[in-house]
Amino acid sequence: MRVDVVVVGAGIAGLSVAEAMLNKGMKACIIEAKHAGYGATGRSAGIATVQMNDALDVRLAKRGIDIINAWRRRYNLDGILSTTGLLSIDRQGSIIKYARLFSECGVAYEVMGVREAMDRWPWLRFNADGGVDAEECIYTKDDVCMDPLVFASVFAERLKDMGVEFATGRVDIQSMMVDVEHLTCLIMSM
Ligand SMILES: Cc1cc2nc3c(=O)[nH]c(=O)nc-3n(C[C@H](O)[C@H](O)[C@H](O)COP(=O)(O)OP(=O)(O)OC[C@H]3O[C@@H](n4cnc5c(N)ncnc54)[C@H](O)[C@@H]3O)c2cc1C
Repeated sequence: MRVDVVVVGAGIAGLSVAEAMLNKGMKACIIEAKHAGYGATGRSAGIATVQMNDALDVRLAKRGIDIINAWRRRYNLDGILSTTGLLSIDRQGSIIKYARLFSECGVAYEVMGVREAMDRWPWLRFNADGGVDAEECIYTKDDVCMDPLVFASVFAERLKDMGVEFATGRVDIQSMMVDVEHLTCLIMSM
């Protein structure tokens, strides 16, 4: 097998790098010790959200959601990824901070009271010990949710169909030999 790029690890980092290589017309091979999503990716909560505390993080997450939505269209991942949005409940001061940050970063959001959120999503249950009136909600409607293990395995299958090679095995980083003449790039994503 001759490839341009060898990616070690089929988590979200490795899969997305292989996909980017594919878009550049390069032949990639992913070597994974167990199976796609075996590491942190498959054990995560599977939420792609802009609800972060820092402008750079918010912008990166927003870009990440755009990339995920492009994958959804290109690889027919409807049913695997859902745009659920994310609702956070916090003290008024924190919600104001969030709202300022989202406006600065061009993120669509809605601020609402707890009672309004309960009207909108009647199945929501709040622990009102602190007094629901003391808190507010912020909703970012474009956030995406997934079962991360299902996502990783289906995405890996789609990439395989597009020509990305997969090999199962643990790469021994210490003793790995790299043929620099034939390999354009080696990416360690583990
Ligand atoms: C409990 C939890 C919840 C989280 N929830 C979220 C969330 O909701 N949203 C979010 O954005 N982030 C979340 N994260 C963070 C996110 O899961 C990680 O940042 C992300 O999955 C890292 O991806 P990765 O591809 O870098 O690593 P991994 O997913 O760990 O992938 C590394 C892969 O490399 C393989 N590997 C390792 N060594 C070798 C080797 N020597 N040879 C071959 N293969 C090897 C592993 O088997 C593994 O599959 C969460 C993390 C945790 C732990």
